[in-house]
Amino acid sequence: MRFATLSSGLEDTDVTEREHVTRRRFIRDAAAGAATLAATPSFVSALGAGDQGSATKLPWYRRAYLWGQTNITEKDPTRYDIEWWRNYWKRTGTQAVIINAGGIVAYYPSKFPLHHRAEFLNGRDLFGELTKAAHDDGLFVMARMDSNRAAEDFFNAHPDWFARNADGAPYRAADKYVACINSAYYDEYLPDVLREIIERSHPDGFTDNSWAGLGRNSICYCANCTRKFKEKAGTPLPRKADWEDPVYREWIMWSYARRTELWELNNRITRAAGGPDCIWSGMNSGSVTSQAQSFRDLKEICKRADIMMLDHQRRDDDTGFQQNGDTGKRVHSLLGWDKLAPESMAMYQSGPGYYRVASKPAAEARMWMIAGIAGGIQPWWHHVGAYHEDRRMYKTAEPVMRWWKANERYLINRTPVASVGVGWSQRNTDFFGRNNAGDLVDAPYTGFMHALVRARIPYLPIHLDDVEQQGGGLKLLILPNVGAISDAQASSIRRFVESGGSLLATGSTSLYNEWGDARPDFALGDLFACHRDSGAARSSPSTAREGGGDPSGAFAPSPSGHTYLRLTPELRARIDGPKAGDEPRASGDRHAVLSGFEETDLLPFGGTLTPLKVETNAVVPLTFVPPFPTYPPETAWMRQPTSDIPGLVLSERGKGRVAFMPADIDRRYAREHLPDHSRLLANVVRWAARDDIPLSVDGTGLIDCHLYEQPRRMILHIVNLTSEATWRAPVDELIRVGPFKVTARLPSQLTRPRARSLVSAAERPVRVSDGAATIDIDWILDHEVVVVE
Ligand SMILES: [Zn+2]
Repeated sequence: MRFATLSSGLEDTDVTEREHVTRRRFIRDAAAGAATLAATPSFVSALGAGDQGSATKLPWYRRAYLWGQTNITEKDPTRYDIEWWRNYWKRTGTQAVIINAGGIVAYYPSKFPLHHRAEFLNGRDLFGELTKAAHDDGLFVMARMDSNRAAEDFFNAHPDWFARNADGAPYRAADKYVACINSAYYDEYLPDVLREIIERSHPDGFTDNSWAGLGRNSICYCANCTRKFKEKAGTPLPRKADWEDPVYREWIMWSYARRTELWELNNRITRAAGGPDCIWSGMNSGSVTSQAQSFRDLKEICKRADIMMLDHQRRDDDTGFQQNGDTGKRVHSLLGWDKLAPESMAMYQSGPGYYRVASKPAAEARMWMIAGIAGGIQPWWHHVGAYHEDRRMYKTAEPVMRWWKANERYLINRTPVASVGVGWSQRNTDFFGRNNAGDLVDAPYTGFMHALVRARIPYLPIHLDDVEQQGGGLKLLILPNVGAISDAQASSIRRFVESGGSLLATGSTSLYNEWGDARPDFALGDLFACHRDSGAARSSPSTAREGGGDPSGAFAPSPSGHTYLRLTPELRARIDGPKAGDEPRASGDRHAVLSGFEETDLLPFGGTLTPLKVETNAVVPLTFVPPFPTYPPETAWMRQPTSDIPGLVLSERGKGRVAFMPADIDRRYAREHLPDHSRLLANVVRWAARDDIPLSVDGTGLIDCHLYEQPRRMILHIVNLTSEATWRAPVDELIRVGPFKVTARLPSQLTRPRARSLVSAAERPVRVSDGAATIDIDWILDHEVVVVE
């Protein structure tokens, strides 16, 4: 105890003094750095320009492009150097800030006695002071709530406002109690807090870190939930999580509806108290699986949101930086490309290895920002705490934000250009993915994302409800193991193909309805030219999924996963060609999807496949080689070298083409990174799209290409993913790639275009031929944007 007292005393005196000395020194150094940067003329003019012309007529949330957040800790009221942070706002060109207001912790003297004040607040109105400072500096303010839990005194005063388990015990999170989303805490108390904050300090809007309440893994049995669910469903709450139970399914949908209702309620409250532009926009994840686990319906929220506040702070080793580009495109495809989607980007080390007050390696933080910007996301620096002894983090955001500001007009209000769409739906994550969405839904999607990036094929995420609305410009729709498809969605996909579109589906696509109930056959079997062979099926769809695997049986672990796919010559490609037990033969004329595999008759696979009935008009270029031992090596010989079980089924449908790939090559690629799998996926995509891809890029390196149009302008954003840490964060050293030769289809109005690169800041010669522009890029370090106009 003496130690604790001593250490706390040090923190309050000696260390604080040292902090101030260090801070003064740093402010001086930072000011010198800013002066050096500002000497570049383009920075000065761009930063001085501000929002001109028609932009000023837009509501604030449509012109707040550059965001910042100092996430205030309870200690900070004693050491928040507001002047220093004002300088930081200025240096980074920040236009809007997120300031902690209330919820779990209040940063102002709230009139509500149970609203827990920050431990070191000492009566100060830190939120109010910061809001005034930001407004004085011309910044917009989003008051940040973090609203889903409270301390014991609050729980004791309102025991009926808190979530409870089946035994009636309150749900706890550390020393706090979790508030129930169906209680008066959300309907009465929080609205009163929002009104109080508006009356006191007039923020421009609100966001909330944890507005969606208790997640899917915990059913609340409090009196409110018990009563409200009974009123809605006419039955008691489900006793446990059971996806087969209609009551549990009803509970899932009811839980979603309540979050969407709260979104609307909160907006009514803040707009009534603070005016029509005083919006409420809770935070959302860039992961659909995370959204599903917290009942945040991305599509319904995007319908209602004026701005999307993304809390998606870092890359995951499995999905890479490119996932942030994917997130931007996914959100904008629902939200519209005219609205903004800022994203919280950690300047601290946020994992793997979680250090709230240590700097994230600058290259790692920078690349996450850039990858998001390429997908249409607006940058938002995020520091935890208002004081840091690791000051390197203060230099990470500034150059990215300044570059953004200087090139703003090319980074907003643009339309993506792609001929390939990748289908998804949150409903599929819920009812097909269930408790295993990572394997069943995310991995197959990620496999295609990686393969398309590797092949430099621009693509767009397409919500399954929007296939007809957004699929008009698409040549190809990819459905990566999208198991749960409703009859209505199947009909719209069918109409897409009937009107000339192509389809590439894998695994269990359309084998389930919207509740995840197995269908007797693929809903899209007629398009696949391929059907379940009930007589030969080794497992039913429902029993296979209960075992934790894929109903197609395709994702089986080793050692039974020592399987292969045989490349079948064109002449033997009909399903009635190869016979089980035939000796394999050398390759003959092969299908275009097998290009690049001339020197092999086998591809590694690893999954298992069941027989299917294939229509006679279809071609089967890959067949299954059943498992054989791997160990000891003497046993590693094929017991059954061939089979008639298809791994890929191809057919022509009028102008369109359909590829059905029972083999889970997409998920395999996400997990195993085998280049053969990437090449195969890209080959099938190009065949199905009839090579109608608006972009080609020659040159070595792993790059992510995003193509956009604005009126009389084409914009190509290339993100360099090549580094010593491509598949494992953090990256420390950026590695230059190039040269590249880029050829992109020109918008028809552009006949004599000029091209400029926005990162290397140079005019680029353009060669025009057959409606396409060819431009050379000498090298790319982190990213490059080519504007052709
Ligand atoms: Zn409850």
